[in-house]
Amino acid sequence: MTDQNQIITEFALWHLSLPVNARRDHGIGSVEHAIEIVVLRLGAEGGQYGYGEASPWVVFTGSAEASFAALDRYIRPLVIGRPVGAHPSIMAEAQAAVAHCTEAKAALDTALYDLRARIAGIPVWALLGGRTRDRIPLSCSIADPDFDKDLRLMERLRDDGVRIIKLKAGFRDHAFDILRLERLRKDFPEFDIRVDYNQGLHHDTAMACLRDVAGFRPGFIEQPVKAHLRDLMARLRDAIDVPLLADEAVFGPEDMMPATALGLADGVSVKIMKSGGLARAQTVARMAQSVGMSAYGGDMFESGLAHLAGTHMIAATPEITLGCEFYQASYFLREDILSTPFPVENGQVVVPDAPGLGVDVDPDTLARFSINRSGLAA
Ligand SMILES: [Mg+2]
Repeated sequence: MTDQNQIITEFALWHLSLPVNARRDHGIGSVEHAIEIVVLRLGAEGGQYGYGEASPWVVFTGSAEASFAALDRYIRPLVIGRPVGAHPSIMAEAQAAVAHCTEAKAALDTALYDLRARIAGIPVWALLGGRTRDRIPLSCSIADPDFDKDLRLMERLRDDGVRIIKLKAGFRDHAFDILRLERLRKDFPEFDIRVDYNQGLHHDTAMACLRDVAGFRPGFIEQPVKAHLRDLMARLRDAIDVPLLADEAVFGPEDMMPATALGLADGVSVKIMKSGGLARAQTVARMAQSVGMSAYGGDMFESGLAHLAGTHMIAATPEITLGCEFYQASYFLREDILSTPFPVENGQVVVPDAPGLGVDVDPDTLARFSINRSGLAA
């Protein structure tokens, strides 16, 4: 029996509520008190485990309940009893079995990669084409409605060596966004500042707002208006001389063709939770590069487990050149689910070398923060 013929014998799920240390306001909604994620653990007959995470957000991609049900009811039968080497077939079947639920498919893809890589004794990035970088610049989002708290976070970030931030804008009013940009530019000149509206600008005022914000020379401006307003995105892109990034407007490879045909952005935020897996995220990045668009390593509200999946994906995807925003495990969660801290050094995410995702999940933490579970032995 070869390693890749090992049969998958366990499919366990946890729906977790993980407390956070601050409020985050975005253009499409807020997060306070806790985030909700779903963790999948696959077990193979040889005794190895593989973990994956679904990190939905109800106003963006979907709900944790939907991710849990997609995995528990519709995807589980596609997985149990199959060899780990059937990974590509399982993903194709999952794609057809459940519409949308891209975060559930990302959890499945991650757990299959982690399991296969642990069985083979190699890092996940080796299964994704090999490592093209061993550090990824980290961006932290500034999104607290209490700006004084964010100013204290900025000092901590500066001390930690972080040099990229993304200002979340469009959740209060334009004056608040300009006030924060002025202060950040004055007090933290060493930072690369990017701006993300999360669709928060009204179509009538978006042009005037972006002209003001462009004057602060942000590295890019992300998703200023509603995802479906593609023509307006294209007009905004033509009118300002700061790169425009698409986030909510591009989920998976299927969205890239209309996005490029309309010329709605200069770059795209690539997220495994939007694309529905690591390999599909790589496809989005490659499609972007093929038409001269840049690519950024975005994320949802995640634990360190999903950050690890994104880290391995970006390590093997040279087309993603704008860094990543895997900050929640270090700066937002009160407690992560990994057994050792998500690896960040001097403002850079460190790509793990150990087999699988490279860091273990702490099973006691899963039990402590679980609000629903399925598939565990009694
Ligand atoms: Mg965004």
